[in-house]
Amino acid sequence: MPIQVLAEEVVARIAAGEAVERPASAVKELIENAIDAGASAIHVEVLGGGRQLLRVSDNGLGIPSKEADLAFTRHATSKLRRAEELSRVTTLGFRGEALASLAAVSQATIITRHRDEAMGVMLKSGGGLRKQAIGAPAGTVVTIERLFYNTPARLKFLKSDSTEKRHIHWVVARYAMAYPGIAFVLKQDGRERLQTSGSGGLADVLAKAFGLKAFKLMLPVSNADESARAEIKIGVEGYVSRPELHRARRDRIILFVNGRAIQDSALSQAIVQAYEGLLKAGAYPLAVLLIRSPSEFVDVNVHPTKAEVRFRDPQQVFLAAQRAVRQALHAAGDIAPAADILSESGFTDAYIDYSRAAPDWLRLAKDELFDDSPQSHAQALADAPAKPRTLPVLRVVGQVGASYIVAEGPAGLYLIDQNAAHERILYEEICAGAKAGDMAKHPTDESQVLMLSPPDAKLLEQASQVFRALGFEIEIFGGNAFVVRALPEPALGLDIADLLPRMLERLRGSPLEMSDGVAALAWAAAKRRGHVLLDDAMRQLVAKLERCPNPLVSPSGRKVFIHFSSEQLADEFGRG
Ligand code: ADP
Ligand code: MG
Repeated sequence: MPIQVLAEEVVARIAAGEAVERPASAVKELIENAIDAGASAIHVEVLGGGRQLLRVSDNGLGIPSKEADLAFTRHATSKLRRAEELSRVTTLGFRGEALASLAAVSQATIITRHRDEAMGVMLKSGGGLRKQAIGAPAGTVVTIERLFYNTPARLKFLKSDSTEKRHIHWVVARYAMAYPGIAFVLKQDGRERLQTSGSGGLADVLAKAFGLKAFKLMLPVSNADESARAEIKIGVEGYVSRPELHRARRDRIILFVNGRAIQDSALSQAIVQAYEGLLKAGAYPLAVLLIRSPSEFVDVNVHPTKAEVRFRDPQQVFLAAQRAVRQALHAAGDIAPAADILSESGFTDAYIDYSRAAPDWLRLAKDELFDDSPQSHAQALADAPAKPRTLPVLRVVGQVGASYIVAEGPAGLYLIDQNAAHERILYEEICAGAKAGDMAKHPTDESQVLMLSPPDAKLLEQASQVFRALGFEIEIFGGNAFVVRALPEPALGLDIADLLPRMLERLRGSPLEMSDGVAALAWAAAKRRGHVLLDDAMRQLVAKLERCPNPLVSPSGRKVFIHFSSEQLADEFGRG
C-alpha cells in the first residue's frame, strides 16, 4: 500500500519512544526496511563505528517517487493503516518513525527507484528536504552521515568505535541468521566483515557468523513434529551449542520471533535452564532459535525499538523452546553432565572448552553433584556436613507442571512446591554464610551495566550495605546505571536485571535490615515455577530440603509441601 501518515488514534496506540539510540539501532531499522521491501541482497557499509557514515543498500521494491517525501515524515508508513492491524503486523516495521527519527539526528540521504518506474529520486534531509530526480538501479540506498551531530548528549553516550562496531556486526549477523535467503554483506571501514550467500541455509550463515570451529559444536534444534500436534503451533528451529562450547555471558543466545530479533530475558533463561546439569553456573550456551507463532499470539507493539515482544501465553513458548533444546541435547546422545569446568574469563568470543573432553569431570564439587552414579552419591553423602535430618529420606518420582516435585517417603506421598522449597534452602544457606561473614563473591563480567528505575536506583543506594554483606559488589555508575562486579553464589547464573529489582521490591521499607536482605535474596533467587528440572537437580533439592531446620514453610510463608500419608491414600482408594 502507499505511504500515508497514520491517523492520530493509531499513533496514540503505538509504543512510543526513541528507536535510534546508537548506530547499531539505525542499522537495524534500515535492514528491517530493506527486508520489508522484499530485498534479496542487502549491503551495509560503515565508517567510524557508524558515527561517520552508515549506508544500507538493497535491491528491494523501492519507493514510488511521489511517495518518497513521505518516507521522512514522522508516522508515515506503507505498512499499517488501522489500529486493528497492530495485532497482526507481519512486516518488521509499522511505526513509520525510523527514517524520520534518523533524518532528524543526521544528514540523511535516500536514493530510491521503484521497480515499476524509469527514474529514481534522491532526497536529502537537513535544512528542509531537498528532492531531485536521479538515475538509479531498482532498490533503495539510505546513507546516514554524522549521526547524532546535533544531539551531543546522545553522542556522548556512545561507546568506543570498537564497541559500536561490534554491535553493528551482531545486528547484521542476527538478520543474516533470521533471513538466510538474503545475501548480506557488511563492510566496516572498507573491510569486509561478514558476507552470507543467501543460499537459504541457516547452517551456512552460522558457520560464517560463529566460525566453522564453533559451528561444528552446535546441534540442530527442531520441534517440527511436536508442534504439528500442539494446539497453537509454536515452531522452534535453529541451533544450540553442545555444553563444551559456552560463554561467560548470555549474549549469544539469539532469539527471533516470527523473523524479528528480540530480547527476552525470561526466554533466554528458559534456554539456559535446558542446560541445567550440563553447564556450570556462570557458563552460558550459544543458541540461535527461530520461534514461529501465529501473529495474533504475539504483541510486537510493546517497545519502541521493537526489540521486545509480549506473548499471549509466555509459559507455552518457554516450555516449547526449552523442550526443543533439551531434545536436541538428548538426541546428541553423548553429552555428559557438567564437569568442574574451568570458568571462562576474558574471552571475547565463543570459547571452546577442551578440558571437558578429559575424564576429570569426576572431580565434582559437592554442590555440583549432577552425576548420579551410585558411588559418587555415597561420596557426597559422606562429605555432607552432618546436619540433622528434618524429613525422612525422600525418593524423587518426577515433576508435575514444571512446578511441583513428586516424591515418595516411608510415610506416603509428598508434593513439593519447588519454588518454596528452593527459597527455604537458599534462605538457610545464605543465613549460614552471612552469619559466618563469608558470603562468597564471584566476579562477573565487568562490562555488565544495569539500568534501574529511579526509585529502585535510590533504594539500591540506601541498601548498599546490605547488598555488600550479601556478597554483591555493585558500583554506582551514574544516573540510574550500575555495574555489577561480583555476585554471591545464589545469584550466579541468574538474570541480574531481573533479580535486583525483585530483591529491591522485597526490601522496600527496610533497606537497612540484613535479615530482610537474606530473605529477599532467597526469595528472588529461588527457582521459579514453570522451570523444568532434571532428575538430578530435583534429587539435590530434595536432599537439601531433608536437612533444613524448617522445611514445612518457605521464609515468605508459603507451604513447601503437601503430604498424603499412606493411610490417606489407602482411604481415598477405598482400601482403608
Ligand atoms: P516503517 O518501516 O515503520 O513503515 P520507516 O520510517 O522505517 O517506517 O519507513 C517509512 C516508509 O518508507 C516505509 O513504510 C516504506 O514504505 C518506506 N521505506 C523505507 N525504507 C525503504 C526501503 N529500503 N525500501 C522500500 N521502501 C522503504
Ligand atoms: Mg522501518
